[in-house]
Amino acid sequence: MEIYHINNKNNVSISITNFGLRVLAIKVPNKDGDLVDVALGFDNFEDYKKASTQYFGSIVGQYANRIENAQFSLNEIDYHLEKNEGNNHIHGGSNGYHKVFWRLVKAEKNKLRFYHFFAEEKDGYPGNTHVYVNYFINDQNEFMIEYEATSDKDTIINLTNHTYFNLKGEGKENVFDHFITINSDSYLTTDKKSLPVNIKSVLNSPFDHRTKNRMGDFLENLPESLKLSKGFDHCYVLKDTLNSELIHAATLEEPENGIIMNVFTTEPGIQLYTGNFLDGLTKGKSGKPYPVYSGVCLETQKFPNTPNRPDFPSALLKKNHQYKSTTIYSFSTKK
Ligand code: BGC
Repeated sequence: MEIYHINNKNNVSISITNFGLRVLAIKVPNKDGDLVDVALGFDNFEDYKKASTQYFGSIVGQYANRIENAQFSLNEIDYHLEKNEGNNHIHGGSNGYHKVFWRLVKAEKNKLRFYHFFAEEKDGYPGNTHVYVNYFINDQNEFMIEYEATSDKDTIINLTNHTYFNLKGEGKENVFDHFITINSDSYLTTDKKSLPVNIKSVLNSPFDHRTKNRMGDFLENLPESLKLSKGFDHCYVLKDTLNSELIHAATLEEPENGIIMNVFTTEPGIQLYTGNFLDGLTKGKSGKPYPVYSGVCLETQKFPNTPNRPDFPSALLKKNHQYKSTTIYSFSTKK
């Protein structure tokens, strides 16, 4: 496992490993200028392997989130993927993008470019697919992730990053005092298998985060609609047609140390996952356990199960066309 660091003139630094392209650490200044590591993670390979179903910090693909019955059909051919969550296929399977060693192809002080070739016969997705991921930090404290892919057959693709954020600092018990805003009027309701059912307005529900809410107000005493998922584990609708416009998706704020993270993306959806299945048995890089709700993921993506839902914005990548996706996690502070 190789470890790389990128940084900017404000001393913001981000550490990344070639194993699953995991973000190991994100150190950003708080309102007093002290650096805080806001990303959960480990300092060794074995721990990443042990916690493999948690996808700490990794790039997730080839299809992030769930595919019902681990199957779909494309151009009248049925494809079968690995069932790695009951009957579902989730996050590209147990040997997905998070488990491979990526090759560093370009390195600058503030930018890394990685590549991997995903062979059709290996993971069951149609096509031989070439994937590039760029990690970039600029002097405005914007951490940008760019995804590019091409394939020699029509295929499906949905890439995201699975960093768990805790703006108080990794290892701090929970995110209850964080405030969340999500720029979305509607979300996908889910069934017992966490598969999307329909698009519903957030109005008069615990899913309405159009103005900021304290996370603990929901997580400390789960409302009925969050009990099945044990917290937030839902995809929000950001746009209903595909376009490359970068839009503001969400904001996370920690009022005490003043750290604010704004998320921008070109993707149509964002999964809010509040670490509902973290178990506290896993200890992070500073030796402190990661219990339930100790980190929150804001995973930009296509809607779950899109390959089986013609009513959702398509996740099709046409043969020899280019898939492109951009997400920015932008850090600032408020006194
Ligand atoms: C999913 C959760 C899952 C977690 C870790 C999230 O993206 O929505 O249900 O537990 O990833 O696998």
